[in-house]
Amino acid sequence: MTDTRPHPGDMTPDEFRRVGGAVIEAIAQYHADLDDRRVLPDVTPSEVSARFTDPLPQMGLTAGAILADWSERVLPNLTTVGSPRHFGYVNGSGAMIGILADALAASVNTNAGAWKLGPAATEVERQAVRWIAELVGYPVDCGGLVVSGGTMANFTALLTALRHVAPYDSTPTGLQQPGHQARFLVYMSSHEGHVSVTRVADMLNLGRESVRRVPSHPDFTMDVEALAAMIAEDRSRGEIPFCVVAQLGSINVGVVDPIEAIADVCAANGVWLHGDGACGLLAALLPETRARFRGLERLDSVCFDPHKWLGVPYDCGVVMVRHAERLRRAFSITAPYLRGPEDTDDRVGLDFLEYGPEMSRGFKALKLWMTLRFFGATGLRDVLARSLALTRYLHQLVRAHADCVVLHEPVLYLYCFQYCPAALRDRTGEPAVQEQLDRLNQEIADTMQQSGLALVMTSRIRGRVVLRMSICSHRTGEDDLRRTLEGLVDIGQRLSAIPG
Ligand SMILES: *Cc1c(COP(=O)(O)O)cnc(C)c1O
Repeated sequence: MTDTRPHPGDMTPDEFRRVGGAVIEAIAQYHADLDDRRVLPDVTPSEVSARFTDPLPQMGLTAGAILADWSERVLPNLTTVGSPRHFGYVNGSGAMIGILADALAASVNTNAGAWKLGPAATEVERQAVRWIAELVGYPVDCGGLVVSGGTMANFTALLTALRHVAPYDSTPTGLQQPGHQARFLVYMSSHEGHVSVTRVADMLNLGRESVRRVPSHPDFTMDVEALAAMIAEDRSRGEIPFCVVAQLGSINVGVVDPIEAIADVCAANGVWLHGDGACGLLAALLPETRARFRGLERLDSVCFDPHKWLGVPYDCGVVMVRHAERLRRAFSITAPYLRGPEDTDDRVGLDFLEYGPEMSRGFKALKLWMTLRFFGATGLRDVLARSLALTRYLHQLVRAHADCVVLHEPVLYLYCFQYCPAALRDRTGEPAVQEQLDRLNQEIADTMQQSGLALVMTSRIRGRVVLRMSICSHRTGEDDLRRTLEGLVDIGQRLSAIPG
């Protein structure tokens, strides 16, 4: 085949229009069909891997052939994350404007690490972060940037905290130095603290056990008195408590830790307060949940995942730090090839590579900025409020069902409950019955996943296996919840029927 491409890596404009048009059409059709698609594909890992064993072609293929492969091999073996009945993990639904934003960002191939590589990209990112701060009531003069998600946002915040709180400069030679052997400790609530913080402790080489689990109240929020006592005890042993992570919307039950009370403890002890708002921060802009975020401005840093509740396509996380210069102090690094001489005049813009862990970084802020503009503040409030209303609706259905056990009041859009046949209700204290229910709930979730109707997963609440649903898709309606709950109960009844 003769190569008629203008450059080996390009297409002719006509070819691009033709193939690109077909891609847009395929995307539109995919979205038109979302409701009818299986949520989880009906495939095993080995079936999928068997489809990807062909060798790399020696000769380049046409774009048309490559894209045909997408529809034939890739798409059918993907999970329909945008389905209105995708309730697994905390997966955003993918608002469509972000698809176009990603295409535009890719089209200019902007590297948003340095101002010189895309002056407007830097401002789009700064404005998007400011808008989020303004929306949720965090100081708008904070520093902040877009990263790949909550884990990297937590990492960015915790390194900043470490550098700021450490009683000596650990930047040149690290934390453990002669005369400085004390461990640095992080605190988060025992039941609802997110495991990404443990990963961050690992990445910072603090050791996973440096994450101290603070007891929770029966409502799953952090017991702040216990926190104060733990910090005092650890300090008396010569260790260095440096950061408390408050959950702002927790992973199982969506609770918000008491920010004011924790901030008081942190202030009294010189400890950094970070808010993990990856899944819940946006609730700060809703009248019905705003009060739970009182004291938000006292957080030294806070993270938020636009790829979750806001529906920005993956991946997109945001970290905000109250004092921007602390972010810079933690990450600033220079090399002769990165920028010219320091300059204070208007010729030198802000280089995000000096404010976060990444150097080359895609123009992710564009999809965030466009999504915020697409919803608008009022539109966003409406769509978020709808999630909360739907979660309360599910709670009503669960409460009314004889075979379902309520485990908590809904706070945000994360909801757990247990299937328990009415006949076993009075025997849940027996270990054998508990184990039976654990197995049953796991099987219910697995069977539901295999059915393709909905993706419902399990978690553990106070040690027991429960059904867990994250209701953060702007596409979900009451009918989706009703069908899903009926499906779950139906499976549960079939599985627990005594074989005749
Ligand atoms: C999702 C989540 C994280 C991790 O974020 P990723 O985007 O998956 O890296 C951290 N904390 C909470 C509370 C989360 O919900």
